[in-house]
Amino acid sequence: MNKKEKIKQIHEKYSIECKCNLKKTATQAVYGDGNPDSDIVFIGEAPGKNEDKEGIPFIGSAGKFLTEMLSAIDLKREDIYTTNIVKYRPPNNRDPLPEEKASCKEWLLEELNLIKPKLIIFLGRHAMNTFFPNEKISDIHGKILIKKFKNFPTKYFFALYHPASALYNGGMREVLMSDFKKIPKILKEIDSNV
Ligand code: URA
Repeated sequence: MNKKEKIKQIHEKYSIECKCNLKKTATQAVYGDGNPDSDIVFIGEAPGKNEDKEGIPFIGSAGKFLTEMLSAIDLKREDIYTTNIVKYRPPNNRDPLPEEKASCKEWLLEELNLIKPKLIIFLGRHAMNTFFPNEKISDIHGKILIKKFKNFPTKYFFALYHPASALYNGGMREVLMSDFKKIPKILKEIDSNV
C-alpha cells in the first residue's frame, strides 16, 4: 500500500471512530489533502463553510490566499499537504472548543506520523497551541521552532498568522507574506542540519 492509500485508511478509520461533537452539525469530515510525500505539512484550524460543503481543506478565501503565498515561493497546492487540527466545521465558524480539539488530536497525530514531514507549518494560533500551548503567535510567528516530542517524527516547526486574518487587513497580509517567504531558506537549513 502506498502512502496515499494509507492516509485514506487513517481518515476513514477516524471519521468513524472520532467522537467529536461537531460531527452532529457538520456536513462531513474534511480530510487532509495534497501530497503525503511532501516535506511540508500546513496545519489550519477547522474547516469553514466551503470546506464543509466540498470536503476539502482550504478551498475558500483563506485557501486562495494560501495558494497565492505558495506560488510566491514557487510551490503549488499539489506539492504540499494541508490539514486541520479539527476535521469538522464548527457552527458559524466559531473557534473550536478545547474538547473538540482534543477529540480530533489522535487523528491529526496519526496523519503526521505517517507523513513524517521535515517541517510543520502552523496556520494560526489554534494549530500552534496544539503543539506549543504556552507560546503566543504574536511572539513566535516567522521564527523556526525546534522541539523533539516523544514518539513524533518532526522536530522543526514554523508558525504563521492564519491566512484568514490577512483577508481584510493589508498590514497583516504583508507580515504573512514576508514570513512565508522565509520557508525555502528554512527548508535548506533543515536539510543541512539533518
Ligand atoms: N480555515 C482553516 O483553518 N482551515 C480550512 O480548511 C479553511 C479555513
